[in-house]
Amino acid sequence: MDNISHAYIFLGDEEETTQKALKLAQTANCENADLAPCGFCSTCRKIQSQVYPDTIHVHPDGAAIKIEQVRKMILDLAEKPMEGNKKVYILHEAHTITPQAQNALLKTLEEPCSESIIILLSNNIKQLIPTVVSRCQIQDFTKAEAEPLLSVESRQKIADIIFNITQKAGHTEFCIYARELSNIEEKIEEVLEFTISLFRDMLIVKTNADAALINQDLEPMIYKYSSILATDSMLRAIDVTYRQLKAAKFRGNKNLIWYNLLVGLKEVF
Ligand SMILES: [Zn+2]
Repeated sequence: MDNISHAYIFLGDEEETTQKALKLAQTANCENADLAPCGFCSTCRKIQSQVYPDTIHVHPDGAAIKIEQVRKMILDLAEKPMEGNKKVYILHEAHTITPQAQNALLKTLEEPCSESIIILLSNNIKQLIPTVVSRCQIQDFTKAEAEPLLSVESRQKIADIIFNITQKAGHTEFCIYARELSNIEEKIEEVLEFTISLFRDMLIVKTNADAALINQDLEPMIYKYSSILATDSMLRAIDVTYRQLKAAKFRGNKNLIWYNLLVGLKEVF
């Protein structure tokens, strides 16, 4: 979790920034570190339902977040997390924090506690005093999302192969799939990360977790296969794919990675 900063301003509408803040809280506390935020472990689910004791939501009391609320938060910061690695404080509509309360917050932003993250959500950064802004890492979600890394055709092709592999695939199909995967132009890491996200989405559906699917365009397929496949197999499939992703990052032989992936998946299902 070394790359997580201790104070953020998330710019954008309340709904979207709240989801991003919950995601960051999940990333910092997820029980499946390799997949964080996995979306389906007990911690991720509690954070999403806003019942996790180490994710603290501060909302305006009436029209503003008042100095008493900020003081209470600062006192709470000194306490260790109850369940997780990090306490995450999410200040909703941070542009309503009174100037006094913002000043009270400054010292905490200057001398952060390593076990906590503070996230200010706002659609109006101009209402925040410059000394607060300068101490936070700003993430602007009002800008358009980046293009997905894989082309629509590649995504569909990979999803077809992966879903077919979970069913009965004989040796002939196996060779065809390996060749088709090798012919995909995009980077092997991206293909493997996409594969992991497919199994992750299936687990979200299978466990009825209250989390958004990463691959919403493939929803019908994800629903279909999550009803056919066992939870344990999906978890093992993530493990198998993750192992090949590690090999890919160490620049392992590409053909061998596809071969090992297909053999590994075949064993799981
Ligand atoms: Zn998780």
